[in-house]
Amino acid sequence: MSKLEGGCQCGAVRYEITGALMGVGACHCRDCQYASGGGPNYVALAPRDGFAFTKGEPRRYDRAGGSGETVSRVFCADCGTPLISQGALPFHPVKVGSLDDPSALSPMVHIWTSSAQPWHPIDPALPAFPENPPS
Ligand SMILES: [Zn+2]
Repeated sequence: MSKLEGGCQCGAVRYEITGALMGVGACHCRDCQYASGGGPNYVALAPRDGFAFTKGEPRRYDRAGGSGETVSRVFCADCGTPLISQGALPFHPVKVGSLDDPSALSPMVHIWTSSAQPWHPIDPALPAFPENPPS
């Protein structure tokens, strides 16, 4: 896979993904609705060792996730663009909208549809899970 690059809207924070993505999905949980401003978060799952910030110092907001572990939402302190989440997972969910070319990736799965907003369409052709997919 070629390198993917992205960053925040104002340009203060930049990152690159050098590892093969572990998937692309849309998460409809309430936490993601806050982070997206309405609908689901569209995220590309980058392996932890294949992701790096290359410019700037993003800010973190720590919060207990659904199963009690700490999940950090990482964003630009200047412009507020949500960038990635960090937690106990083997990957970092990277916000697709922060990529330089978000059109390059489309979701393969919808998760946490139990809290999806009724007005948000979900592609019936894609697998969907009411909470996290079985691992
Ligand atoms: Zn910024």
